[in-house]
Amino acid sequence: MPLESWGRYPKAHQAAVPVHWRSDPLPRVHGSLLPFGQGRSYGDCCLNDGGTLLTTGRLDRFIEFDAGRGLLRCEAGAQLGEILAFLVPRGFFLPVVPGTQIVSVGGAIANDIHGKNHFRAGTFGRHVARLELLRSSGERAICSPEGNADLFAATVAGLGLTGLITWAELRLRPVQGPFIEAETVPFRGLDEFFALDADSSQRFEYTVAWIDPRPRGLRGLYFRGDHSTRTAKIRAAAKPAELPIDLPGFAVSGPTVAAFDALYHARGRLRGGRRLSRYAPFFFPLDAVGRWNRVYGKRGFLQFQCAVRDEAALDALLDRVASSGLRTSLGVLKTFGDVPSPGMLSFPRPGATLSLDFPNRGAEIFALVDALEAIVRDGGGAVYPAKDARMSPATFAAGYPRLAEFERFVDPAFSSSFWRRVRAA
Ligand SMILES: Cc1cc2nc3c(=O)[nH]c(=O)nc-3n(C[C@H](O)[C@H](O)[C@H](O)COP(=O)(O)OP(=O)(O)OC[C@H]3O[C@@H](n4cnc5c(N)ncnc54)[C@H](O)[C@@H]3O)c2cc1C
Repeated sequence: MPLESWGRYPKAHQAAVPVHWRSDPLPRVHGSLLPFGQGRSYGDCCLNDGGTLLTTGRLDRFIEFDAGRGLLRCEAGAQLGEILAFLVPRGFFLPVVPGTQIVSVGGAIANDIHGKNHFRAGTFGRHVARLELLRSSGERAICSPEGNADLFAATVAGLGLTGLITWAELRLRPVQGPFIEAETVPFRGLDEFFALDADSSQRFEYTVAWIDPRPRGLRGLYFRGDHSTRTAKIRAAAKPAELPIDLPGFAVSGPTVAAFDALYHARGRLRGGRRLSRYAPFFFPLDAVGRWNRVYGKRGFLQFQCAVRDEAALDALLDRVASSGLRTSLGVLKTFGDVPSPGMLSFPRPGATLSLDFPNRGAEIFALVDALEAIVRDGGGAVYPAKDARMSPATFAAGYPRLAEFERFVDPAFSSSFWRRVRAA
């Protein structure tokens, strides 16, 4: 099966060479190289049309676990889900996790991913103590915030363009068990969202909202939670409370407005104060259905994720979507804090971040996404490369002011479909 990104758009034709050992040299190929993790990026930052992908699925060994110092060293192809399965019984958790656990460590670093706790923990890259980077010159650079600091800052959020990360050492956070004290609160409108968010971010470690932008106004469900100190005694009672049982099916299929209705009207069941959830349904609800991206068919879908500074920009984006008459699947809305990101091209910045999925229906969807991009650019925001398939060079340059500095660290043998698009003259 050809390698593709999660959105299945755009298509790319490329060779694939698996990396088996971290000691392997880079292969000699015609054309450019690009590392590939689990292909959970939506657009083309993990694609290399006409070139070669270095697949890292087999580069997945744990190298060293130091419980005393709370450190794990592992190969870059190790998946976050495998790491959590190892760590949680030992009383540790990853400080930052995205909305799926089927993500490699290399991919998490190269997009400097964020989680539901950005306002407290910042991005994934902040918790990387050091990493090894294999360059096409054959050099193996050990990079950290203290040593080779510039190359480290270019490689975190470096979109796979600075070389192949072979291993990384991650700082861990302690937890007392596998449970999350979770709560769901329905809301209407952005004012209610921001009020809930201001209160929740003081009291909870993890926050995120799912939204349905409709012409008659926004409605949403706000999820918040903390790691629980409760242990195995309540394990049996925890199962039925897990959330959200039916979600993946209706979240991704058919008219998702109806899906959202089903979820919204189930709020009586969902509300009920705090309840106990295992960590996986709380953090990774969509992982319950493998490869759910296929429900959009071969043409795939586009996810648009942006960061904006203020409510006015958010309002304009949501109005534009609602008035387009085009259906979006469930959207996600959360706020970013001001914890500095370590990468030159890191996406998170203070403000709010909105993501929306659109089935790929060609011109009408492209026009809408382009209009949203213009609102973001004009408002001084940024589009997230991990989710992007269309951003223009101008929008990329405007959203990432350290681009020129970053370019100095791009390995001459590495490139991607994304990079060629956003750097096109
Ligand atoms: C359901 C779902 C929910 C998500 N939720 C979030 C979220 O909450 N927050 C968030 O930030 N993101 C989220 N994402 C996006 C995802 O976390 C990122 O796209 C992540 O980078 C994917 O990792 P991957 O291993 O699949 O890497 P790929 O998608 O295969 O590659 C991503 C980039 O990493 C580079 N790369 C991969 N391995 C290496 C390596 N060893 N060395 C150097 N570069 C490498 C690639 O070249 C590419 O540029 C979500 C994705 C999905 C499908």
